[in-house]
Amino acid sequence: MRMLAPTALAGWMLSVFRQPLGSLWGSLASLLCWLKAAFWWPAAEKGQQQVPRGLEESQEAEEEVCTIPTSVNYHFTRQCNYKCGFCFHTAKTSFVLPLEEAKRGLLLLKEAGMEKINFSGGEPFLQDRGEYLGKLVKFCKAELGLPSVSIVSNGSLIRERWFRDYGEYLDILAVSCDSFDEQVNVLIGRGQGKKNHVESLQKLHKWCKEYKVAFKINSVINRFNVEEDMREHIQALNPVRWKVFQCLLIEGENCGEDALREAERFVISDEEFEEFLERHKEVSCLVPESNQKMKDSYLILDEYMRFLNCRNGRKDPSKSILDVGVEQAIKFSGFDEKMFLKRGGKYVWSKKAMKLDW
Ligand code: SF4
Repeated sequence: MRMLAPTALAGWMLSVFRQPLGSLWGSLASLLCWLKAAFWWPAAEKGQQQVPRGLEESQEAEEEVCTIPTSVNYHFTRQCNYKCGFCFHTAKTSFVLPLEEAKRGLLLLKEAGMEKINFSGGEPFLQDRGEYLGKLVKFCKAELGLPSVSIVSNGSLIRERWFRDYGEYLDILAVSCDSFDEQVNVLIGRGQGKKNHVESLQKLHKWCKEYKVAFKINSVINRFNVEEDMREHIQALNPVRWKVFQCLLIEGENCGEDALREAERFVISDEEFEEFLERHKEVSCLVPESNQKMKDSYLILDEYMRFLNCRNGRKDPSKSILDVGVEQAIKFSGFDEKMFLKRGGKYVWSKKAMKLDW
């Protein structure tokens, strides 16, 4: 590491001179991280140096400064057309940032090191019939050049026209599906009146193939679907990833006095979750996420572009990155980078690199 230092430093300086002024802060933050990696970590790892108490604390602060928002989940709206009983990001406000402000925040994140953005909600296709989302997706891919742009949606409002207009800019579409039994979906709150959630899922799978978007499925395992065997259906749909979450309680969202949901009746034990995983272990695309893995391993931005800290079992907001910048706001995110890596948060996430057989 030390032998490479002069070359790497020269490279950094060259890259700074090529950048516009607005990017300089991001570069300076990267330099601080680089200096720490080059001159501090090796000694600390080998235990060559006893760190005095005061210094240790200042280094903890420095550690926070160096959190890079590699993968960010931007929940730009809390509004949704579904009423899932366990929802842990509920419609507490109807606020959505003006498009240009949202773009400004995304640029700040890119300058701070963001590589992947995931748009989520609420239901992200609800705002302006998907146009708001489409414009952000296009901005992130075509203008910011992010390696990965993805969406999590309940899938009920997506039209083929959206794929025609914006599909080329999208790497991954993750669709929520908790059951292949429509009655269970209705019980959970994913009912669509006359429309059938599973039929929507199949239609989206087809469009993803046609418009070259990687297709992913997210399932929340809860009291109503924990006994289900989904192997056949998942294997037939063959998603690039099947994220399987254990139903999670978050105070103020789906439990507690001021919450809009009472999700206690949906909760399952760790053992029940393990049994579900065991039953589906032959499904190779399955990525499990227990409550423990999930809670602090996501960088979550709310509708005001505030990081939400889940360390205390609720979502405590930081200041907005639009007001104080990413570096300041991220210190209050509660993000557990080690758990993020441990749960496989960093994976092949650009559709180009996936080399899919469309
Ligand atoms: S679809 Fe998602 S955002 Fe909407 S109610 Fe269900 S869990 Fe919440």
